[in-house]
Amino acid sequence: MSLLDDRLAKLRGPVPAKGHDARTLGALTTNPGCNRRALLDAAGIDKDAIAVHLGKPRPLAKSSIAMRSGATFEQQVKADGCAELLRLLRDILDLPLPEAAHTDLAVVGTQDASHQIRYAHTRNAVLEAARSTSPARTLLDHPILQLTVAGTPVYLEPDVVAFQIDGVFHIIEIKSFAILDDQASPVKVAAAVTQGAAYILALRELLEKEGINGDKVSHDVILVTPRNFTRQPTAKIVDARKKIAALTRQLDRLTRIEPLLNELPAHTTFDLALDKDDRPTRDPKELTTALQSTSTRYIPACRYFCDLAYVCRSEARDDGLIDVLGSDICDDLGGVDHIGTALSLADGTREPAPDQTDLALALQHAHAVRNQLLQESA
Ligand code: SF4
Repeated sequence: MSLLDDRLAKLRGPVPAKGHDARTLGALTTNPGCNRRALLDAAGIDKDAIAVHLGKPRPLAKSSIAMRSGATFEQQVKADGCAELLRLLRDILDLPLPEAAHTDLAVVGTQDASHQIRYAHTRNAVLEAARSTSPARTLLDHPILQLTVAGTPVYLEPDVVAFQIDGVFHIIEIKSFAILDDQASPVKVAAAVTQGAAYILALRELLEKEGINGDKVSHDVILVTPRNFTRQPTAKIVDARKKIAALTRQLDRLTRIEPLLNELPAHTTFDLALDKDDRPTRDPKELTTALQSTSTRYIPACRYFCDLAYVCRSEARDDGLIDVLGSDICDDLGGVDHIGTALSLADGTREPAPDQTDLALALQHAHAVRNQLLQESA
């Protein structure tokens, strides 16, 4: 074990490190300025267990109905050897006939214990396709890829990898959120594309380890979703280059975690001190102090991707940080970090700094309008 691994293990305590998946990797790019998350993720700490112990768990990110609906849609798209998916790919990638071959890697097992075996099969199938000179097209269903995160291999499960005739691999993400009139929720699309970016990086890593150019993996993600209010699938090509770049930066940051570790007070640990029945015994106040020794930057979007969201939101509220009000208000109040500062500029009890004069005037105007409305409605 390296010195760095040893320090991270002390932060985590005597429990196995919690692994990453494409969702948690994607989350790294949503709030890249958060040192708390960077440290806890690098150490493989169970953030949900910490939030539960502190009495501020995050509600289930996805309802069981939404999960069932997602699974049903994926089954529909992949039925009969991915027949529907092939039809969509033919349209969107201009694939001529004949059919592409469909290889279902689930037949070698879909349980966690079989990740290694499925990865070995995926690797063989990808390398065989990459080195082949024949024009064969291959759809790899239920593949497993591997990505190195902070020096440790992490298994990832894309929905499908498609191998096209001109030698370019494509990652396909199947999502059950609807595209209505060609518009989809930007938050959901961004999350899906970020997941796709993690798969693209993993597939590139696989090829590059074998001396094959990573450019053989397309920087686009093919997003398959239901069209309008029907269950009729539709496919869209989404450019994932920005997400790939952002994720690469964050992964690089995880491997350079030492400066953040050096800032922690000596003997800091997030160990929950589990008893023999796996119940945490750590004093919550002590744990909170340990957490507060890491710097953080809560944003409302944290609620969608980080298990510590309710812990950090409560801290940010207690500190009166503008961040809790959302990015639009942060942008409007640029340079003002605290709600109290904004309020005192608004009611004129605080002298604005030279660069805050315009902002103070706008706040005072808003304050006057609010007071007038309150008087009229009284
Ligand atoms: S919830 Fe907290 S730890 Fe998680 S990303 Fe947001 S600020 Fe960082």
